[in-house]
Amino acid sequence: MNKENTTFDVVIIGGSYAGLSAAMALGRALRNVLVIDSGKPCNAQTPHSHNFITQDGEAPAAIAAKAKEQVMQYPTVQFLNDTAVAVTGENSNFSVSTSAGLTIHAKKLLFATGVKDIMPAIEGFAACWGISVIHCPYCHGYEYKSQPTGILMNGDMAIDMAELIENWTSQLTIFTNGKSIISNSRLEQFLTLSQVQVVEKEIRSFQHIGGQLQYIEFTDGSIQTLDALYARPAFIQQSNIPELLGCRFTEAGYLVVNDMQQTNIPGVYAAGDNITMRRAVSGAVATGGFAGAIINHELIADKFGRH
Ligand SMILES: Cc1cc2nc3c(=O)[nH]c(=O)nc-3n(C[C@H](O)[C@H](O)[C@H](O)COP(=O)(O)OP(=O)(O)OC[C@H]3O[C@@H](n4cnc5c(N)ncnc54)[C@H](O)[C@@H]3O)c2cc1C
Repeated sequence: MNKENTTFDVVIIGGSYAGLSAAMALGRALRNVLVIDSGKPCNAQTPHSHNFITQDGEAPAAIAAKAKEQVMQYPTVQFLNDTAVAVTGENSNFSVSTSAGLTIHAKKLLFATGVKDIMPAIEGFAACWGISVIHCPYCHGYEYKSQPTGILMNGDMAIDMAELIENWTSQLTIFTNGKSIISNSRLEQFLTLSQVQVVEKEIRSFQHIGGQLQYIEFTDGSIQTLDALYARPAFIQQSNIPELLGCRFTEAGYLVVNDMQQTNIPGVYAAGDNITMRRAVSGAVATGGFAGAIINHELIADKFGRH
């Protein structure tokens, strides 16, 4: 089928867990769907993905490959390896331009475009990201239980994180990478119930072997050995198209959707990491699948005038 001469019921921008999950719901609903994907999921560097039943410990790419294989069995779904670069039009009549120069028409749009983590400019951080520098204890905390673990944060959020992590390991150090702004009351309260070291020294590098942390090196030349480090790097939306379309965002930078996965722009939906700080494969699959069903209902409502 020529993609440019077709008006798809739905174009899904982003073909990772959220996008593929939506494609499955829509494909099974016999909707004519195109998934456009640029192949850059946020967890690409993680060797093993955890905490998603049936797939615990699988490589992230293997989970996505199996999902894609299953979705592509539905003849109404097509997949395009490309990047969506712009969208024009309005509900029931969108046009999506891609970096390969295609123009694709769609009645509805789903953004399952995820977010992009911005690596801090500390040597070794990016190489360890997703391997031993981790963002989420539910995803990777079990693998580092009882091991010397750091938290790269400052302010009271570092104590919030320490409270979360200390059931996995009591060998905890908070690295504030400069003067601590943790409030004394929070730190003292934590120390009455558990233990944590606070290190204010500035970090020069994370020394690692193949992404596995060995030690932190400070600017004063001292070092501290460590097996794992929790960090919350800044992020941006992986696609700026929703912003250009006029979609609303939370203060933290997530797309605002209602409980039907709808953005404030009619006909435009969002699912997965781009709408929530609760990042998990299971969550992306859940919101993607739900978005697929809701979009199908919207297409039915359009046809039968049920608005
Ligand atoms: C380092 C790391 C480790 C993680 N480990 C785990 C774990 O162990 N267990 C777990 O449950 N969760 C884990 N997560 C969270 C999980 O990876 C995410 O919640 C999940 O990937 C979100 O799925 P998504 O489909 O919303 O976005 P992503 O998987 O990030 O995919 C977004 C997709 O959209 C595409 N895209 C973006 N813009 C465009 C565009 N303009 N045109 C075309 N395509 C576009 C990208 O190329 C990408 O393929 C981890 C996250 C990170 C960062």
